[in-house]
Amino acid sequence: MTALYLDYAATTPADPAVIQAMLGCLGQDGVFGNPASRSHGYGWQAEAAVETARQQVALFLNADSREIVWTSGATEADNLAIKGAAAALQTRGRHLISSVTEHKAVLDSLSYLETQGFEVTWLRPDDSGMITADQVLEVVRTDTILVSLMLVNNETGVVNALSGLGHQLRSRNILFHIDAAQAPGKIAVDVKALGVDLLSLSAHKVYGPKGIGALYVRRAPEVQIQAQMHGGGHERGMRSGTLPTHQVVGMGEAFRIARECRETEAPRVERLGRRFLDAVLQIEGVSLNGRLRVPNIMNLTFAGVDGETLLLALSDLAVSSGSACASASMSPSYVLKSMGLTDEQAHSSLRFSIGRFTTEAEIDRAADLVGEILPRLRERRRARTAQV
Ligand SMILES: *Cc1c(COP(=O)(O)O)cnc(C)c1O
Repeated sequence: MTALYLDYAATTPADPAVIQAMLGCLGQDGVFGNPASRSHGYGWQAEAAVETARQQVALFLNADSREIVWTSGATEADNLAIKGAAAALQTRGRHLISSVTEHKAVLDSLSYLETQGFEVTWLRPDDSGMITADQVLEVVRTDTILVSLMLVNNETGVVNALSGLGHQLRSRNILFHIDAAQAPGKIAVDVKALGVDLLSLSAHKVYGPKGIGALYVRRAPEVQIQAQMHGGGHERGMRSGTLPTHQVVGMGEAFRIARECRETEAPRVERLGRRFLDAVLQIEGVSLNGRLRVPNIMNLTFAGVDGETLLLALSDLAVSSGSACASASMSPSYVLKSMGLTDEQAHSSLRFSIGRFTTEAEIDRAADLVGEILPRLRERRRARTAQV
């Protein structure tokens, strides 16, 4: 039997409609032309498909389609936003603000800038896991050029309190970048309401394909970033490379669907998440990490068991310890530790994340499995400690 998939925060399967749309952009009979070919219909057709997708993503964000720059994913979008803004603004200042709970794509881009003479102030959350606008405003300086924060944390689902921050930063002439990879379909992502200048998206967290994402780059007033990929000058000079029509069309369709079903999907997922939590939080020694979360991500600490042992025992469930990117390393989650969890507690934590294709029956089976296995593991551990 294949494991029950509860790792939607790591990636989602593509929606069947996304797959159909992508298939139409590959073969001889499809829209396979190079979107940059200006001399024939194959190119024009591909360009039209790309522009439709651009509008679909823009509509989702309440942006203009000319503000969408295609990238290979949120990792590249984060790199382009952070390094691109730093390079463009370095004569004005070299101070940046971010947080220790960011995705590695942001952490490592900023750490790289630290080696290049930039200074980063790293904000830390309290035990709620949240970073607030007030925390940012306390540390802004006259030489601050960029603030980079995530909207929804990928390990805990915690939503940062960024309301009003964008407008505060704009009045100080500081650029604001948001990594919103985990947010679409869960909470509103409106670039105007957020007052954001740069915003990263990924398709594969939203039932689109892997290998495609986008960076929103505000046009009015215009935000300048320096290209990190040099070549044919595609994407208005910000990101060179032939556009992968099928990927782009897949992302557009994914965001069209996300927009269309946001009224129905979010409440359904919330109900399923609540059902799972109601069951597992009844078990002794199980606690939920983070307050004010999106309901699809549930990070739980299981006192008295090791997360890796639990993961092995729960092999019928595809869940993760920490994030997919960090779980290759065995070090405990830096996100959970920053919220005050001990190494041991962080090691005893697992992330369950659900989504569009999760059913009530799956939720019940997952909760039952946790309920069966947890007491057994604890009993085994007690017996082993008693022997020693
Ligand atoms: C998944 C994720 C990324 C990376 O996105 P890719 O498209 O896989 O490169 C970046 N930030 C956050 C918050 C994510 O969840």
